[in-house]
Amino acid sequence: MALVTMRQLLDEAAGGGYGVGAFNVNNLEQVQAIMDAARATESPVIIQASRGARKYANDRFLYHLMEAATEVYPEISVALHQDHGNSPETCRSAIELGFTSVMMDGSLMDDGKTPSDFEYNVRVTREVVEMAHEAGVTVEGELGTLGGIEDDVGSGEVNLTDPDQAVEFVERTGVDALAVAIGTSHGAYKFTKEPDREVLAMHIIEEINQRLPTTHLVMHGSSSVPKELVDIINEYGGKIDPTWGVPVREIQEGIKHGVRKVNVDTDLRLAATGAIRKAFAEDPSEFDPRYYLKPARAAMQEVVEARMVAFGQAGHAKDYDPIPLADMAIRYREQGHSLTVT
Ligand SMILES: [Zn+2]
Repeated sequence: MALVTMRQLLDEAAGGGYGVGAFNVNNLEQVQAIMDAARATESPVIIQASRGARKYANDRFLYHLMEAATEVYPEISVALHQDHGNSPETCRSAIELGFTSVMMDGSLMDDGKTPSDFEYNVRVTREVVEMAHEAGVTVEGELGTLGGIEDDVGSGEVNLTDPDQAVEFVERTGVDALAVAIGTSHGAYKFTKEPDREVLAMHIIEEINQRLPTTHLVMHGSSSVPKELVDIINEYGGKIDPTWGVPVREIQEGIKHGVRKVNVDTDLRLAATGAIRKAFAEDPSEFDPRYYLKPARAAMQEVVEARMVAFGQAGHAKDYDPIPLADMAIRYREQGHSLTVT
């Protein structure tokens, strides 16, 4: 079993100067694609489930799929993370289910849509930190809001993270990781032209990293939306308008400045959809789901492997032994919320 807390995984990444992809899962093929990619590249990995995923697959199925990953791939350190928890209650249920990390997204009210105010965000995030750290579980908070709406999460409004507020937020909440808004969006339609450093407000990451050097920064909405994946979908009857994601080199720039967790979801969706459309087109007489799910799984694995290499996590799977949750709980109690594991 190689279940690891996200705190340890990110502390190790910080020590090694690399980033770690956090990939969303809803079903068996996604879990297998991500784990096969982790095995092929010897990468530690974060697999995460949104509230939408928990609803789609059912909590018990989803948890056991993720647990199976730690059994079938014992050499890989895996953190199980709740993506965009909308309330302390959602985070509590994830912890009870066995997740080793939770995100309390208090940048939005518990409807997951309405932007909240700073004091609300501090209050709910602090509540989750108290509860989670007592169990040794890692907490990610979010300050500022991203564009786009995905899985019913998001206000569609962009509010970049203010560095002064980030410092106050981390001090008052004790979060292990902080999602920052630098102009990215959830979903496939992020930019209408190729974004550069100014469009992406990379200076915000640099400033927050200078002022909070031990806080792990998280980039959401960080799919790169490769043109070749969009082209396959459109070539086989799909209709995706021209769009740009976050270039891998910009993510690498962020990793140089304290970004440790990089959320990627859309790229896997695009890869799977293109492969399925292609399979349907190539042999319309096939009706065995394995005929189209196998190439979908392979296409997802390919894109995940490429990200693992680009983010620098490749080759680091066997660097360390996971610290059990109970031991993490003791460390938080003895050293406070801002402990360093490595
Ligand atoms: Zn997100």
